[in-house]
Amino acid sequence: MNHEHDALPPQVFRQAVEQAALAISITDDHARILYTNPAFQRVTGYSREELLGNNESILSDKVTPRIVYETLWAQLQRQRAWNGMLVNRRRDGNRYLADLTITPVVDGEGHTTHYLGMHRDVTEVHRLERQVQNQKGLIESVVDAAQVAIALLDENDRVVLDNQEYKKLIGVLGREPSVTVLAALKTKLGAAFDQARASRRAIPAQDLRFDRPGQEPRWLACAVTWFEEQEMGADAFYEPGRRPYLLLTLQDIGELKRQQETIRMNGLKALLAEQERIQGLRETLAGAIFQLEAPLNQMEAAIKLLEKRGETGTSLSEAVRSGRATLEGLRAAMPVEADEAEQAVDLNTLVADVLKLATPQLLAAGVVVDWRPAADLPLIDGRTAQFSTLVKQLVDNAIEAIDERRDGRRELRVCTQSHADRIELAIADTGPGVPEEWRFKVFEPFFTTKGGDEQHVGLGLVVAREVVARHGGFIDIDPAYHDGCRVRVQLPLKGTS
Ligand code: FAD
Repeated sequence: MNHEHDALPPQVFRQAVEQAALAISITDDHARILYTNPAFQRVTGYSREELLGNNESILSDKVTPRIVYETLWAQLQRQRAWNGMLVNRRRDGNRYLADLTITPVVDGEGHTTHYLGMHRDVTEVHRLERQVQNQKGLIESVVDAAQVAIALLDENDRVVLDNQEYKKLIGVLGREPSVTVLAALKTKLGAAFDQARASRRAIPAQDLRFDRPGQEPRWLACAVTWFEEQEMGADAFYEPGRRPYLLLTLQDIGELKRQQETIRMNGLKALLAEQERIQGLRETLAGAIFQLEAPLNQMEAAIKLLEKRGETGTSLSEAVRSGRATLEGLRAAMPVEADEAEQAVDLNTLVADVLKLATPQLLAAGVVVDWRPAADLPLIDGRTAQFSTLVKQLVDNAIEAIDERRDGRRELRVCTQSHADRIELAIADTGPGVPEEWRFKVFEPFFTTKGGDEQHVGLGLVVAREVVARHGGFIDIDPAYHDGCRVRVQLPLKGTS
């Protein structure tokens, strides 16, 4: 006997086994039970007397596949411990799942004399594990079947879970769609994105447009939410850590955008038609008033002359009175411009829309359009209808001017530019251009170049100037441009005008 055994009285071994919470049994070399501890009786429901002398197979439910027992015994015969799961049956017939370890007890001559069995009822643990697995499977299949692209990203922005819809986006947005989408979100939201990220605040769905060369742009509504997972590693057992995840959902809103665009374009078409009708009516009425005023003035002068001579022209006075009444009637019939409220206008979209509407006209005239919108053009406060009329007028004028020249390039160059205090819209054509002496005159009321051999600049420039002036801006013809006519519109940004 060595020193350790002396220090630990033999009964302590027995007491330790007796009081252990694990179900412990000791069998002979044929698995016949020689000893069981109280925990064994508690777990199995059998009394010690019922167990002693019986094979451990008394617990077997016969559901456990044969191969498991064969492996168990093969292992034990090699004098190695075995650990595994068996389905056991309690005395009352209830089944439970046993996590069992069997260790051979080998004597001094190398023979297995006994076996030590220790097991735990792990039915509940197993049930929970299964439940988690089932839920995981359920979540995965739901996520996979969702019509929305979903990707779960870890702290390093690595995708740890995605679905079929997300994989489909690889063909559209590149090898890792999340990278493209997060970059686009950051561009759109700026500092707000970083703030949301730092404080793990959800970002509500943002409509993002992804342009692809030679193809229709793709529209996706992108939303971000964050959630935290409790870390599961052993080191997190006493000091639970939390791991943040970013959940990205992407919904194809192409169809919605197409519908919105159709509605917007139809609205713009109707608006421009209405503006044109009103402008035409105003011009007609103004012309009629102008025409009536001259003879009326002459008649009034004649009446004054007659009165001086002491003659009265009652019928003439009557005619003048009714003429004046007609004139007033005409003035009253002059349509007033609708009072449109100011709003933040995206000039790039507005110009693109007007150009789109003018496509049939441009195609018919064989005009090539070079449209260069400024990136990150700030919104300006203004009246959409008036801006649309302005742009339409300038585009119409340009097409008309290009049409006047039968030879040479037929090109319409439109661009927007962003400056510190204003934004600029320039529309250049390859028409005959405006002679230096008419550069300012073309913006004057009633000035027309129509009729002569010279080029014709539409009357609409007056209206155009009015619109620009009403927005505190400035319109002119670029004197440095010699390929045709280049009209520049400068519109001040809010607070800087
Ligand atoms: P059995 O007729 O017992 O045997 C099935 C197969 O096992 C045979 O084809 C044979 O290949 C092999 N086998 C059986 N006995 C031996 C042996 N002595 N030597 C070599 N091979 C053998 N089983 C449970 O179901 N639940 C338990 O909780 C459990 N605890 C055990 C604890 C200990 C300490 C030991 C040693 C065994 C334990 N067993 C337990 C195994 C049990 O003894 C039976 O082998 C098993 O229950 C299968 O029983 P059976 O009547 O279906 O088949």
